[in-house]
Amino acid sequence: MTHPAPRRRLALHTKILLGLVLGAVAGVVSNIYARESPALKWVVDDVAQPIGQIFLRMLFMVVVPLVFASVTMGVASLGDLRRIGRVGVKTLVIFLLTTALAVCVGLTLVNLIRPGDALDPAMRTALMAEYSSQAGEKLVASEETRFGVNTFVNVVPRNPVASAANGDMLGLIFFSLVFGIALTLIAEEAAKPVMRLLEGINQAVMVIIGFAMRLAPLGVAGLIFSVTARFGFDVLKSLGLYVVTVLVALAIHQFGVIGLIAKAFVGIGPRSFFSRARALMITAFSTSSSNATLPTTIRTAEDNFGVPPEIAGFVLPLGATMNMNGTALFEGVTVLFLAQVFAVQMDLVTQIVVIIMAVVTAIGVAGVPSGSIPLLVMVLGMVGVPPEGIALVLGVDRILDMARTVPNVTGDLLTALIVARSERLPLVVPERSDTAA
Ligand code: ASP
Repeated sequence: MTHPAPRRRLALHTKILLGLVLGAVAGVVSNIYARESPALKWVVDDVAQPIGQIFLRMLFMVVVPLVFASVTMGVASLGDLRRIGRVGVKTLVIFLLTTALAVCVGLTLVNLIRPGDALDPAMRTALMAEYSSQAGEKLVASEETRFGVNTFVNVVPRNPVASAANGDMLGLIFFSLVFGIALTLIAEEAAKPVMRLLEGINQAVMVIIGFAMRLAPLGVAGLIFSVTARFGFDVLKSLGLYVVTVLVALAIHQFGVIGLIAKAFVGIGPRSFFSRARALMITAFSTSSSNATLPTTIRTAEDNFGVPPEIAGFVLPLGATMNMNGTALFEGVTVLFLAQVFAVQMDLVTQIVVIIMAVVTAIGVAGVPSGSIPLLVMVLGMVGVPPEGIALVLGVDRILDMARTVPNVTGDLLTALIVARSERLPLVVPERSDTAA
């Protein structure tokens, strides 16, 4: 007797991947065949973009309560101040080391390939003309984000509610850290109800993320379609070698360096590591935002890797704001690429300055799409490369932004795993949950 084959439901991550591939293929095809058509414009503006935006907004919507609840609870559950300090120092050291490694990978490649030497001068003029007004805006923005003593003063918010409302994540995190520390210093019976409330908020937020993730296959398709349909391959072709340099360097860092570190320090082989991190990588790629990916990062770390909530809640929100391996790599490559284009000599010392500046500025970059551009402009100016050169790369930034956000968040996950291991906390993987897988 034969039984009918059981109907297999696709796992969520498979559906998201399908959304990504179908959206990208449909976008590229429509760009080739119907670039100028009003129907395509309508589909992009009135269908794909809105679906993508709703998905993004669902994720952004939970970032503020999630950061506050998870950082405060993370710190408070770490217990005494000494432990908080130890975990904090370890976290920062891993952030800095992995980011510096990433920049070194990028600089090695850009020095080997030298994509700037290959750019046609006529193309350079054309691109500068096309994107110079956008570049002007970025120049103004870089003035506002000038680096100095005030950068540190501004981490302490005047008003945490205003920080939350304005997307000033560092301010919000600072307040949550201090609030969590304070909870460990008051009487237990006073602290307990607050912790219970935060626990409730956290659980509710996780459920909302589950809702958002159900929308993910469609949302991801919408986001990638709008990019590929408008973008096509044209700009990509002229800056091809530069784009390839950044993408290859990002891939080496992501799958080589991060994979090796995971194996060496956490004992998880690259295959298992990347397959468990799949939802995280796809969300980062399609949203281009560490902040929007944060809910997925936390879920993946806890559900697929068994990172204890107090470590995930402490390390991951900090990482989404401060730890940007991919962004620092991209900054390093871009500075050198533009130096090659404008024939500015970059000796070893200047390149070391570039490494340091890329690492430091990546900390200040907001985890939102194109968050790094104003700071990149600042670094260009510092090392004597004409900052207007940013106009050359703006046309391809979207695709690079998507790609660099992947190592940005994977680096956060890696850090949480190493810290949990070093604290001798067992990584217990609970029953696999479909939403986070
Ligand atoms: N989009 C990046 C992120 O959110 C930031 C950037 O490099 O522009 O991680």
